Amino acid sequence: MTYVIALANQKGGVGKTTTAVNLGAGMASMGKKILLVDADAQGNATSGVGVSKADITKDIYDVLVNEEPMAETIVHTSHEGLDIVPATIQLSGAEIELTPQMARETRLKAALDAVKDQYDFVLIDCPPSLGLITINAFTASNSILIPVQSEYYALEGLSQLLNTIQLVKKHFNPNLKIEGVLLTMFDARTNLGEQVNTEVRKFFKDEVYDTIIPRNVRLSEAPSYGLPIMDYDPKSKGAEKYMNLAKEVLANHG
Ligand code: ADP
Ligand code: MG
Repeated sequence: MTYVIALANQKGGVGKTTTAVNLGAGMASMGKKILLVDADAQGNATSGVGVSKADITKDIYDVLVNEEPMAETIVHTSHEGLDIVPATIQLSGAEIELTPQMARETRLKAALDAVKDQYDFVLIDCPPSLGLITINAFTASNSILIPVQSEYYALEGLSQLLNTIQLVKKHFNPNLKIEGVLLTMFDARTNLGEQVNTEVRKFFKDEVYDTIIPRNVRLSEAPSYGLPIMDYDPKSKGAEKYMNLAKEVLANHG
């Protein structure tokens, strides 16, 4: 059975895309077939796995707005076992164009249902909002992985995120679960990181992963080379931690 996980937090810059790319590549390195769906008009996951604009003929916008088959958008990446449905800036108009359309909340689910059997896991990299694209992602998913930056106001906005999850459960996807909560960009040299760690674990209890992603400069460099961290610098702390996360996620799925 294919398992679909959305990576979501309506705050920007918390590590959604970094986690989507490197968790995906990590699980692929462990022999799983992974489809990454870039659902953000910024296209950071797309460029982060080395897919350039020239390689893209159709993207997630064509799937959502024009109901083109998802199979026609899938691109193989240089990382064995990792494929991507790319996004480009044209996705930025999709929310407005989708609003008057039929079945606007279930477009992504319908498209994914036709291809997902070829994969063990699908990871959807959500945009930094709780709009229609994110609703599509939640409707298409089995669960949601929430990256939380180890910074001031880490928990701010999470109640709106949880409300949106409840709304999608009620109207479109009753079995939607929380996959896990991931602490990202952790700085061990400050007390703040530990405070946030304690606070997040108090709130989310055992939903928080044991793995904590540290702040690691190699993780921020890798996207400009179009490589997951395991291929850019396999000996880095970032690679080690994202491999640990991949193991933890796979262990949670037996
Ligand atoms: P989001 O998708 O939530 O907006 P990103 O994954 O794009 O967040 O991360 C925001 C920025 O922080 C990017 O420039 C990324 O390279 C960098 N970054 C993410 N995680 C780390 C980390 N653990 N250490 C250092 N830089 C990171
Ligand atoms: Mg992103």
